[in-house]
Amino acid sequence: MSHGKIREDKTCLNCGHHVEERFCPHCGQENTERRQPFYFLFTHFIEDFTHYDGQFWGTVKNLLFKPGKLTNTYLEGKRQIFVPPVKLYIFVSFITFFVFALFPMVNIGSNDKHDEKQSDTGLVKIMKPIKAIGTQKIIDSIKAKKILTEDDSLAIEKLKMVPDSAEVEKILDMDQTIDSGDGNYKTKKSYDSAKAKNPGYLDFVEKPIIHKYFELKDHGITKKELLSNMIEKSFHNLPKALFIYLPLFAFFLWVFHNKKKWWYFDHGIFTLHYFSFLLLTILLIFLFGKLTKLTDIKALNALIYFVITIITIYSMGYFFIAHRRVYRSHGLVSIMVGIILIAINFFAFMFLLAGLALVSFMMLH
Ligand SMILES: [Zn+2]
Repeated sequence: MSHGKIREDKTCLNCGHHVEERFCPHCGQENTERRQPFYFLFTHFIEDFTHYDGQFWGTVKNLLFKPGKLTNTYLEGKRQIFVPPVKLYIFVSFITFFVFALFPMVNIGSNDKHDEKQSDTGLVKIMKPIKAIGTQKIIDSIKAKKILTEDDSLAIEKLKMVPDSAEVEKILDMDQTIDSGDGNYKTKKSYDSAKAKNPGYLDFVEKPIIHKYFELKDHGITKKELLSNMIEKSFHNLPKALFIYLPLFAFFLWVFHNKKKWWYFDHGIFTLHYFSFLLLTILLIFLFGKLTKLTDIKALNALIYFVITIITIYSMGYFFIAHRRVYRSHGLVSIMVGIILIAINFFAFMFLLAGLALVSFMMLH
C-alpha cells in the first residue's frame, strides 16, 4: 500500500465511480493525487512487495520455514494474505539471477592469487610430486599420438591440476582431432566427405554441432575459451530454461496424483512455490559461499560450511514435507511417490541441462 496523499475529489480518475474511502469500489484504483514526489516512481515497485501489510516478508518467511503452507493457503482460496505464486516466482527469480550476475561465475584459467592459495591446500598438493616424476613422460606420450583416447583425456585432466606448467598450457591448446569413434576429422571438409560416404542416423544432430565446432576453431577460439563461453551462455539462459521446466515439473506431479481430486492448476501452484523456495535457498547458499572467500579465519569458515550443509539437507527434506502437507496422502505412499518424482525430475533436469548446453554452444560466435 502506498502512502500517497488521498484526493479531496471523490470521483475516481480511472472510471468516474464515486470513491468513499482510499480505493475505488468499482475498479480498485487508489484515489491518490495524480502527481507524487519523484522518488515514488522507484519505491513503488519495492513497496508493492514490502509495505503491503508486510505481505512480502510474511510470504518469504512462510515459504522458507513452513513447507506447503503457501500452497495450502492459496488453494483454500485465501489469496490476499500472501504474494500470488507467479508474482513471487518472477520476483525471486529476478533477485536470484540478478545477484548471480553481480559476481563473475566462470573462473576457468584465472590466475587469482586467492585461488592458487586455496588449490595449494587441496588436490594440487598431492599432484605436485607426480609432476616432478611423470609430467614430462605423460606429455611426451600424448604428443606422440595423433588421436586422443579416453586415457589421454584423463591424463590431461590430471595435468590441469598441476599449476604453472607452461607445457600443460601448450597441450591444452594443442590442435586435437575429434575422436567420434568411427572416424577422425581434421577439418570440416574431411568430415563432410567422410559423412557423404558413410551417413549415420544421428547426422541431423551431429552435423550442425561439428560444423559449429570447426567454425569456432577457424575463428581461433581455444577449447578453454569455448568451454568458459559455453558455461557463461548456459548460465545466462538458465532462467528461460527453468521457465520451460516448470510446466514439466507440474506435469509429473499430475501423473502421480488423483486426477479428479487435483487439477493441473493445483500442481502448478505447488511447483511455483517449490521453485521459488529452491531459488531462494540456492541464493542463500551462494551468498554464504561468497562469505567464506572474505575471511581466512578457519573456525568461521567451518561454521559457514556447516550452515551451508544444514541448508542443503533442509532443502532436500523440504520437498517431502511440502508434498506430504499439500497432497495429504498416507505417509509411506507420500514418501514413495516423492522419491519417484525426485528421480524422474533428476533425469529430466539433466536432460534439460544437456539441451541448454547444446543450445548455448550453437549460439556461440
Ligand atoms: Zn474507479
